[in-house]
Amino acid sequence: MTTLFTNIRIFDGTPNPARAGSVLVDGETIARIAYAPDTIDPATADVVIDGHGGTLMPGMVEAHAHLTWGSSVEKIYHAFILPPDELEVAATRNARVLLDHGFTSAYSAGALGDGIEVRLAQAIEAGLTPGPRLIPSTLERSPEGAEGVDTGDVFNGRGPDAIRAFMAYCAKEGIGSVKLVISGEDALKPGSAQDILYTDAEMVAAGEAARAHGLFIATHCYTPRAIALAMEAGARILYHCSYADAATIDAMAAKKDELFYAPGCGVSVAALEASPPPHIDMSAMKASAAERMALESKLVPALKARGMRILIGGDYGFPFNPNGRNARDLAHFVQYFGYTPLEALAAATSLGGELMGLPVGQIREGYLADLLLIDGDPTADVAILQDAGRITAIMKGGAFHKSPAETRAA
Ligand SMILES: [Zn+2]
Repeated sequence: MTTLFTNIRIFDGTPNPARAGSVLVDGETIARIAYAPDTIDPATADVVIDGHGGTLMPGMVEAHAHLTWGSSVEKIYHAFILPPDELEVAATRNARVLLDHGFTSAYSAGALGDGIEVRLAQAIEAGLTPGPRLIPSTLERSPEGAEGVDTGDVFNGRGPDAIRAFMAYCAKEGIGSVKLVISGEDALKPGSAQDILYTDAEMVAAGEAARAHGLFIATHCYTPRAIALAMEAGARILYHCSYADAATIDAMAAKKDELFYAPGCGVSVAALEASPPPHIDMSAMKASAAERMALESKLVPALKARGMRILIGGDYGFPFNPNGRNARDLAHFVQYFGYTPLEALAAATSLGGELMGLPVGQIREGYLADLLLIDGDPTADVAILQDAGRITAIMKGGAFHKSPAETRAA
């Protein structure tokens, strides 16, 4: 089965300007790209899609996904913790919502249930339910557990042996990335972002076990000490890092070929914009968000100048920051971090593809055909990606999740 996209401008995922051309998909992959004046003979394709001058771009990658944080643009949950059945329904819905909004890949930053994302990733992979390619995680691990006591459970406990047991459990369960909470969280407990929840020995053990089991590590870390611990463990991706100092920026930049960074600004901007009803107190969250945005508006450009791979992904899933609005992060990168639209698009596509460790995020021959057809030019204005109605076709692995015909009929 071959599909030809013609009459399109191609944004290929790199920060190069879009160019007119056509793209041929054969099976799951991108078989051929022809830039004008070259063409591809329509007679060679089973299906020909006229893009009407729109933009063909790679599907986007959410680098800080929380599919089990229930809220989406389709349904808001005011309770954060849901009963297990409802959680499964919400996660399944959120996977589809992300795909509906142009995200064909997602890297999990932690789940609210154990096993749920592994089941979901398998169901998506098997074609049983629609969703992005998913690197699944489990409960976010902080060493003392929510209760602050050592229960002996693999999710709690102190010391290198406890964390080795946890990593072995994750590997057995089919987890792709383990989320370690190294710093506290000011938005939940003011001042705790300065806390350090793990020891050197624990993080070294985590890193050794992750390498032995082929697991990625994702870390919630704010301060220079927390970031140093994350890098000591060989973390694949660091989130937040708001209080990074000059020496930390140097240390991160020195690992730029093996490390990714996602500030997670979506939740901060949404917290600042939120106007909750009087009985919901978001004052701590808003204060933390304002401080973080002020810090990150200097940090992100500094790391970008050093060649760091910085990704979109903004803790979507809260009622005030629901899943489905994930493309807002691109506009935030432009507005707050000085990105050009092309750079923001590359962060959302080719750089995200590198995080996934899959041939995705680029329109490139041999890459998986995860493609979006956009009514308009996102390289001029990334905000149009926030309107799912402007995404006139969504293809994942060569199959349409949303076909252009559906759009025309609407
Ligand atoms: Zn998060």
